[in-house]
Amino acid sequence: MTRASQGKRLILWDIDGTLLRGGSVAGTAFAAAVETVVGKPAADHGVPFGGKTDPQIVREILAVLDLHDQVDLHAASIIAELERGLAAGRDQMRAEGFVLPGVPELLEALRDAGAIQTVLTGNTAANAAVKIDAFELRPWLDLEVGAFGSDNPDRNQLVPLALERATARYGAVDRRHTWVIGDTPFDAACAQAGGVRCLLVATGHSPRADLDAAGADRVLDDLSATADVVEYLTAD
Ligand SMILES: [Mg+2]
Repeated sequence: MTRASQGKRLILWDIDGTLLRGGSVAGTAFAAAVETVVGKPAADHGVPFGGKTDPQIVREILAVLDLHDQVDLHAASIIAELERGLAAGRDQMRAEGFVLPGVPELLEALRDAGAIQTVLTGNTAANAAVKIDAFELRPWLDLEVGAFGSDNPDRNQLVPLALERATARYGAVDRRHTWVIGDTPFDAACAQAGGVRCLLVATGHSPRADLDAAGADRVLDDLSATADVVEYLTAD
């Protein structure tokens, strides 16, 4: 029995807090997009973004502004405005943000190990592309087989979509060798909903204790121990 006959390995990377930190651009762009579309100040909405999809964040901000009945009316316009604002803030994102420790080394090593790598993210596909390209991570990631907040506002629906896309492009993918790598309990929940494994890393805003309680296969403080992480993710 060869590994190839069991299907390929698939690594589904979360973006914010896992691959990179993007600074203040997304927060500012969200508030500005809401304000532009609904005409109401939104800077003090207080909605945490971690692990949520962009459409979910829009819905929650509108709820805080007491506009929950206007989600259907405004969500698409707000997302379009958000995408415009984020793309316009790309240079600021590069200046304020950074790729997290060990990430380039791990992307490289996992590619060398034959893994397919893409993103599973709450970002819309357009916002994900802006962030990935701003930090020059595209060479390791096939965004064509990723799953995004623009595919479904419910993150728990995204793993099957990524598996389907990766299988269509690369052939059989082994669910037991498919990993979500993320930084929030929501990442662990979507891995569990999709029947795949999960590595959580405490480089986002979630406290380590919350990650330890999330039911992931493993939790790390960061991804800097490249050899150990690769060995863990590529073990049978
Ligand atoms: Mg994240």
